[in-house]
Amino acid sequence: MKRSILKQTDYDVVVIGGGAAGLTASATAVSLGASTLLVEADRLGGDCTWFGCVPSKALLSLAELVRCGDLRRDDLPARLRAIRQQIYEHADTPERFEALGMEVCFGRARFTGPGAIVVEDAEGGTRDITARRFILCAGTRPALPPVHGLEDISFETTHSFFEMRTIPDRLLILGAGAVGVELGQACARMGVEVTLVEREDRILPAGDPLWAEHMMPVLERDGVRVLTGTTVTRVEHARVGRSVRVTAERAHENGEILELEADMLLVATGRAPATDAMGLEQAGIATTGGFVKTNAAGRTSNRRVYAAGDVTGRDLFTHAAGAQARAAAVHAVLRFPQKYDSRAIPKVVYTHPECASLGMSSAEAARARAEGKDVKTWSLPLSSLDRAVTDGHPEGVLQIQATRRGRILGATLVAERAGELLGTVGLAMQNKVSLSALGSLIVAYPTWTDGLRKLGTQHTLSRLPTGLLRLAARMLRLRGPAAGISPDDIV
Ligand SMILES: Cc1cc2nc3c(=O)[nH]c(=O)nc-3n(C[C@H](O)[C@H](O)[C@H](O)COP(=O)(O)OP(=O)(O)OC[C@H]3O[C@@H](n4cnc5c(N)ncnc54)[C@H](O)[C@@H]3O)c2cc1C
Repeated sequence: MKRSILKQTDYDVVVIGGGAAGLTASATAVSLGASTLLVEADRLGGDCTWFGCVPSKALLSLAELVRCGDLRRDDLPARLRAIRQQIYEHADTPERFEALGMEVCFGRARFTGPGAIVVEDAEGGTRDITARRFILCAGTRPALPPVHGLEDISFETTHSFFEMRTIPDRLLILGAGAVGVELGQACARMGVEVTLVEREDRILPAGDPLWAEHMMPVLERDGVRVLTGTTVTRVEHARVGRSVRVTAERAHENGEILELEADMLLVATGRAPATDAMGLEQAGIATTGGFVKTNAAGRTSNRRVYAAGDVTGRDLFTHAAGAQARAAAVHAVLRFPQKYDSRAIPKVVYTHPECASLGMSSAEAARARAEGKDVKTWSLPLSSLDRAVTDGHPEGVLQIQATRRGRILGATLVAERAGELLGTVGLAMQNKVSLSALGSLIVAYPTWTDGLRKLGTQHTLSRLPTGLLRLAARMLRLRGPAAGISPDDIV
């Protein structure tokens, strides 16, 4: 291993945790010439590969195959794990990362001081390690709600759900955030009787309100029983068989008490930090509610330690973890001022249709308008987009928030390809491309991107100097410009 000259530490950079954040941080550090050690307690790949993005997206696709009769429901679990293994072998093996020039070590790391850790391996062996810089990427674990009886019954979290050998007939999901809604829809579409219980008044409570508005009827049509404003108070094993009995209280039905039964209970009520046994106090690393506090460059209260990914509690997405990790590694190695910008992080729920947003949400735009700020929302129902109609998915909407002059502030999209469309919006925002410029783009017909072009054209037409146009029309004896522009007027 090549080592740098100016130091007495074992490594330039030690990265703790080999999930999305840790893999990016270590790969970035080593590519910048730092001697780098990656420490992982379990398997490389972290939540994304084993319990998160990869198996959940595979489940959504495989469920469609089951629905169309192209896959037996009983064969789904094995297929799902095969896809996961394929991605692991392509992207996350230790050999791949060692080939980049770093060292990979398996064991659980704990800080023993401001610039030192001890790593304990599965056999109880320990190794003391020092480094000039640490990047803490330890992720999170499933959060468990305070429900009476939960500790006495068997239930699933995302850490165990994808290991299932058979698909249950009745599934009760606690929590209608992105995870609950994605998994609930996938299971319902392959014939599972799904009940989705959410304490808040709407599904996807952390997302743009437009998402819930459009997804509620879709989920109900897919056969999901959605109970919002409902708090689970007690769980227990049913008297007969292996099923679970759930008691829940409905906030808006005079506190009506519901008794529900399912073959499997999946708890999907968010994430909790997993930093309790990491010696953060010994290293002087400050936390809030267990999540590690960082500045925009990812630096913690200990100047030698950076943190990235879910462990910071900021934007719990793989691409956010990657962006934070890159910023932290560049700053840790080169001291280049690097900034992580939350507003540039796309958010996508991979349901059918997908729900996506970037930057200013529709609710924030409405608030800004109420305060008299220069924000306008441009909206296109999918029923006005030919590709959505030809594909048989005309439910949904494309919305862009922009200033009157066309500076794009954000987008909220509910459409089959919303996640992909967000890339174009992101590129426009990042490069200060105006909404009108999107309108002048020549887009293949019929595509989903044509919807963005139509929003741009709406903006362009709204900016036409109508007085001048009317005068010109009168001189040329034309009818004159149309008074108002509806989305259906955009060709
Ligand atoms: C069901 C589900 C679906 C999801 N879908 C998406 C999606 O579609 N798109 C998206 O962007 N995001 C998705 N996410 C979120 C995404 O998985 C996470 O944001 C991402 O994995 C976070 O990466 P991370 O590196 O911060 O943490 P993790 O992936 O949790 O990695 C942390 C790693 O640190 C290791 N570790 C912990 N403590 C120690 C220690 N003391 N010593 C050594 N190693 C340690 C752990 O073993 C783990 O490997 C999903 C999450 C879930 C649960």
